[in-house]
Amino acid sequence: KGPDPDLPVIQKRLELVKRKVLVLSGKGGVGKSTFTTQLAHAFAADPIKQVGVVDVDVCGPSIPRMLSVTEERLHASASGWQPVYASDNLACVSVGLMLEEEGDAVIWRGPKKNGIIKQFLRDVDWGDEGLDILLVDTPPGTSDEHLAVVSSLKLAGIDGAILVTTPQEVSIQDVRRELDFCRKVGIKVLGLVENMSGFSCPNCHKASDIFPPTTGGAKALASEYSVPFLGSVPLDPRLAHCCDRGQSFVEEWPGTPAALGLGKVSQGK
Ligand code: ADP
Repeated sequence: KGPDPDLPVIQKRLELVKRKVLVLSGKGGVGKSTFTTQLAHAFAADPIKQVGVVDVDVCGPSIPRMLSVTEERLHASASGWQPVYASDNLACVSVGLMLEEEGDAVIWRGPKKNGIIKQFLRDVDWGDEGLDILLVDTPPGTSDEHLAVVSSLKLAGIDGAILVTTPQEVSIQDVRRELDFCRKVGIKVLGLVENMSGFSCPNCHKASDIFPPTTGGAKALASEYSVPFLGSVPLDPRLAHCCDRGQSFVEEWPGTPAALGLGKVSQGK
């Protein structure tokens, strides 16, 4: 296979994006989209920062709900696709913003799926000023197809990846595969985050472990691979509520263990 003819176009389009960060997880449901959107809120809390989110989880797009823009739609213009703005300085694109109705199924495979991801990278007009940071929410998994998507993102000039896992062994195993993959293709790992790291009870304020074997597995993994450990965030039902309403948890519940964890992660990079 020869060089991808779209690559120079993608690189040109993303020239005005200062930092491009992938959010990866081995398994689904570990909080990858939650992290992506909460990080986006954290960066966008600084009004001079322009923040973009690309939801390339084409089969399960959850970013529109988590940024509370499900009613909006992407529009094409002469300069490319116009992203949907969740606030003045927080823009996003997602397959979910192209479907007729929220909840319509997306059953795309292989080339079509990769085609739309490429379009998002190549054809979205992020504005004349560009972006300070672009967060890319990837589909979960370690299948060949998934890895192909991630390596094509690498070619687009990604700065690095944040990996999200829960403390549970199955998730740790999958994220290990993802770490090996990043190493193999040369994607810099900006850090590892442990989500659902115990349960922080909003009533009694006590913390309890949920998943065996023990909370803290991600930290050990980070040191094994010599990558930064960015912090841990406990399960907190208020975080799920905030995500469902498109709110920033750190703004709504400052000082809680989950807010402190999220704050640490967004400052970590
Ligand atoms: P993924 O993107 O990895 O599939 P999501 O971010 O969609 O995972 O999270 C799965 C579900 O778990 C969502 O309903 C989300 O609100 C919830 N969730 C994620 N992290 C937490 C947390 N720390 N506390 C409470 N709920 C969480």
